[in-house]
Amino acid sequence: MTGLFDSWQRQINYLRISVCDHCNLNCVYCSESSRINLPRSEILSNEEIQRLVQVAASMGINKVRLTGGEPLLKSDLSKLVRALSQVEGIDDISLTTNGILLSKYATELKEAGLKRVNVSLDTLKEDRFKRITGGDKLGDVFAGIEAAHLAGLEPVKINMVVLRGINDDETIDFARLSIDQGWHVRFIEFMPFGTAEAQAFETVPTQEMYQRLQSLGSLEPDSGQTGNGPAKYYRLPGANGTIGFISAMTEHFCHTCNRLRLTADGQLRPCLLDDDEVNLKAALRNGADTDELKRLILQAVIIKREQHHLNEGVTPGRRPMYQIGG
Ligand code: SAM
Repeated sequence: MTGLFDSWQRQINYLRISVCDHCNLNCVYCSESSRINLPRSEILSNEEIQRLVQVAASMGINKVRLTGGEPLLKSDLSKLVRALSQVEGIDDISLTTNGILLSKYATELKEAGLKRVNVSLDTLKEDRFKRITGGDKLGDVFAGIEAAHLAGLEPVKINMVVLRGINDDETIDFARLSIDQGWHVRFIEFMPFGTAEAQAFETVPTQEMYQRLQSLGSLEPDSGQTGNGPAKYYRLPGANGTIGFISAMTEHFCHTCNRLRLTADGQLRPCLLDDDEVNLKAALRNGADTDELKRLILQAVIIKREQHHLNEGVTPGRRPMYQIGG
């Protein structure tokens, strides 16, 4: 297998797939008050996703992550996982979810071939959960995390987007859970993205979070097997779990970016933070053969930007985050 390399010699081997744009939460920084979901006919079917993954795998993609919207709202998600796990060349299938429905599906997803799961959780407080997400299912998220562990979807990683003045006072409580519960917690810098209402929140730089967590003890760099993505990992004294920082704003990792993103309506997006897209759905539905699909995937790799320019105020405006999947 030759693999996919872009002009900057980054090896592209990871495809994030948004399987739907519906969500059972309405997070203040991710969604928008005037949310309009795509008509069902615009959303790729399992068969269409499987076909694209087959072609991408033949070109060097070996890791797939399913996201959304909320991917667990797709009632036949396990069927898709099973189909993708049988695609030659795919050796890692993971899921990003808000966890609300995870206790219902964790076991069947594991049996279908899902390897691991990331759960998005921005607060440990009921009232705040309601304010941030618009929902009141914090208990279900905790149950989902527990179910994921029991099902063996390891490592379970908890992703917290840190917003100044909204939840940044909880970073220490989350970090403490890496000791008390063995959680793998990742702190994500908020990226100003999408609508003006979503962009109104303020990023807390990793360096600031790191300094705060020193009150729990010295953070030792951890080069264990908890990830090969953009996070930098540390461990607190006595912790079974790790602490990761994803610093897209203050220390971007574009030079190591190994991913492409497929939106729920079949657009291949080379960069989360750039509006360029290649229309795979149109090609698929117009009967494109494998060579044509390969050509289009390669086109996305060719136009993949060297780095994002969010810090200079260049904000992608075409889609809100819930349509891309983070
Ligand atoms: N519903 C699923 C979930 O909650 O994990 C998957 C989709 S959600 C868009 C994926 C991730 O993107 C979540 O962890 C969410 O917190 C994160 N996210 C959304 N908007 C963001 C932003 N502006 N900056 C950083 N992360 C963001």
